[in-house]
Amino acid sequence: RAKLLGKARFEVFDYEMHIKARKLMQLVTDMRQALKRSEFILHYQPIISFASGRVIGVEALIRWQHPTHGLVSPVEFIPVAEESGLILPIGQRVLEESCRAITRLNAQTDIELMLSVNISGKQFAQEDLFDVVKRALIVSGLKPRNLKLEITESVVMENAKQAIELLKRLKSLDLQVSIDDFGTGYSSLSYLHRFPVDMLKIDRSFVSMMEAGSDNLEIARTIVSLAHSLSLEVVAEGVETVAQQDMLRELGCEFGQGFYYAKPMSEEDLLASGVLTTHWPMGE
Ligand code: C2E
Ligand code: MG
Ligand code: MG
Ligand code: MG
Repeated sequence: RAKLLGKARFEVFDYEMHIKARKLMQLVTDMRQALKRSEFILHYQPIISFASGRVIGVEALIRWQHPTHGLVSPVEFIPVAEESGLILPIGQRVLEESCRAITRLNAQTDIELMLSVNISGKQFAQEDLFDVVKRALIVSGLKPRNLKLEITESVVMENAKQAIELLKRLKSLDLQVSIDDFGTGYSSLSYLHRFPVDMLKIDRSFVSMMEAGSDNLEIARTIVSLAHSLSLEVVAEGVETVAQQDMLRELGCEFGQGFYYAKPMSEEDLLASGVLTTHWPMGE
């Protein structure tokens, strides 16, 4: 009996694996087609300076405008794009399109926005990332100092020596680098000061439920003081309330990004919504 059950269990497992593998293959096929049909679109989420109360830049965030499923979140397809290698052509398109969009916006408005672009581990491990970035800057005309690459902690820490070399090369273009989702990975503190980066982004998970006496508040405080001791600036992700903003300001965090200010939106809406000219009061 035990044996039969074991076999049955194995078959169920096998069947589920099979279904899952087929779904994944279908997804990769669909994504390849989506790339050809330009179904990947970019939204931009404002980043606000706590000093001025104004938008100083935006982060480009990809979405899939799916013909039947509507707007699909990157959480649903970026991991599969990474796994299949499709992140390379997708990432190249994201860089070029977002650099073009922000160049257009900067030409149309008085403000000079910075653009942050997420770079995945697979892209970062690619020899030609330097050329891809350089090309995006050249074809778009975006000033290199207005481009910021976001790389997660684990990606830079995994292969620290190589990462430092690539970051140095990228930074020779005069662009900036920030470490995304900071605090969720394993950072070697002895390495951190060797990374030629400009900014840390406090992960959203620490900003949520950040209240007096909470662990999250203490973690945020530690990240801000670590960043400042390394002469790095700090952005907080996922700011949803004015109370969070005020606590972050008190910690000395310089910038905020989150639904409290604005959700990610199309290039068109960045202009139409008035967000670019909004002034958020920062107290005293
Ligand atoms: P991320 O780079 O950490 O981006 C921040 C995410 O937090 C975005 O989710 C944004 O919409 C969300 N967010 C911002 N403010 C708030 C808030 O106040 N509350 C809540 N609940 N969420 C907030 P999104 O757009 O779904 O992107 C998820 C992740 O997908 C990104 O995390 C990034 O890792 C990845 N991703 C997005 N676009 C790209 C891309 O073009 N290339 C690569 N490689 N990855 C991307
Ligand atoms: Mg990011
Ligand atoms: Mg993040
Ligand atoms: Mg993230």
